[in-house]
Amino acid sequence: MTTQSSTKQSAANLSAHHSSTPQTIAIAGAGLLGRLLAWQLNKARLDVTLFEAGSFTPSEPQSKRAAAFTAAGMVAPLSEAVVSDEGVYRMGQFALTHWPRWTNQLNTDSTTTDPLFFSNGSLVVAHPQDASELEQFARELHFVIPACNSYQQITQTQIQALEPDLSPNFQQGLFLQEEGHLHNREFLRLLGDNIINSAIKVREHTAVDVAAGKVIANGTAEEFDLVIDCRGLGAKPQMRQLRGVRGETLHVETSEIRLQRPVRLMHPRYQLYVVPKPGNRFIIGATQIESEDRSPVTLQSSLELSSALYTLSPAFAEARIIEMDTNLRPAFMDNLPKVNIQDGLISANGLFRHGYLLAPAVVENVLAHIFKKPEPIFSALLNHH
Ligand SMILES: Cc1cc2nc3c(=O)[nH]c(=O)nc-3n(C[C@H](O)[C@H](O)[C@H](O)COP(=O)(O)OP(=O)(O)OC[C@H]3O[C@@H](n4cnc5c(N)ncnc54)[C@H](O)[C@@H]3O)c2cc1C
Repeated sequence: MTTQSSTKQSAANLSAHHSSTPQTIAIAGAGLLGRLLAWQLNKARLDVTLFEAGSFTPSEPQSKRAAAFTAAGMVAPLSEAVVSDEGVYRMGQFALTHWPRWTNQLNTDSTTTDPLFFSNGSLVVAHPQDASELEQFARELHFVIPACNSYQQITQTQIQALEPDLSPNFQQGLFLQEEGHLHNREFLRLLGDNIINSAIKVREHTAVDVAAGKVIANGTAEEFDLVIDCRGLGAKPQMRQLRGVRGETLHVETSEIRLQRPVRLMHPRYQLYVVPKPGNRFIIGATQIESEDRSPVTLQSSLELSSALYTLSPAFAEARIIEMDTNLRPAFMDNLPKVNIQDGLISANGLFRHGYLLAPAVVENVLAHIFKKPEPIFSALLNHH
């Protein structure tokens, strides 16, 4: 069956089960996708129940089970195209227009107006001895997106003009002006508050299994018109082809340095990124390890991350390490996302290291199926099995 005909078949299945829009919807998992979908479906006045294995209370450690809390919040279609494909790039470009809309909506719905999304671009730099890494990055970018012209090769003076606090040792870099970043933990927290104060029925500390039209919690099944499975890696017992890919981050705090945008450091062994966060904080990450080990950050990773950070700017030497975090990215074997449409059950998963980059495309695709739009957006990329 072709992708297109399987999509039509799936959409037909969904409408065969409910000829009109489903009224009672259960969402399993309140990470990134689950929260976004619950929010949007509640806005459309549907009856939503949200099941979460962990907690909504930020002070409880379980509330960080979602990979969404560990993520650095980069929305980086170009940088991620280099490690994925042109489809991810296209969905990422869609995200750049969608996130400002969502964050404005959330700001309007809440009491805070602190900016949550930033369109300041991102910077890729390499030390002079690693300049070939920068050239390779640009070559790979052109391989995936041959017509790519949305970045600029920049000199030391231009790097200093964009980010005066970076070390002056960087002779050349790339400025990816279309990229953005989110204050993602603040976004998730605000969205969580919004959900708790809405008509959405929240069931915390409730790990569930899912089936068509059913959610099974503690051996008891509850029926809904439609179930949406957003459990990320938590879906693995029912979705064997999923795997977890470990990532580690350091969070540091210093008032000595200001950055306006994420900075990636190209290095022969790893790519480090630093993303500015509120309160003079920065998230530093790099690691992508084929392991489902959730144990704390290793000494080697912490040394590599902190020494690379120090080379970005010696002023980081006085930064305080305030947190080290590890989590697992939910991924399929091809590292690409999938939205599976069945009768009474939709599952959206495999966002890998692109959760914030792909969430707008995935959420709008799911909503289009639920509201029976004739041509669900990004169907050819998302709805194949
Ligand atoms: C170190 C790191 C850095 C990252 N950086 C970025 C980045 O900069 N940009 C980007 O776009 N992406 C990034 N990501 C990827 C992003 O975090 C994920 O792709 C995204 O969070 C996946 O969203 P999700 O909703 O599918 O899963 P999650 O966010 O993991 O949410 C799943 C939720 O389901 C709940 N759950 C699990 N099992 C059950 C169950 N049985 N019943 C009920 N609830 C359950 C979990 O508790 C969790 O709350 C990063 C990831 C990591 C680990």
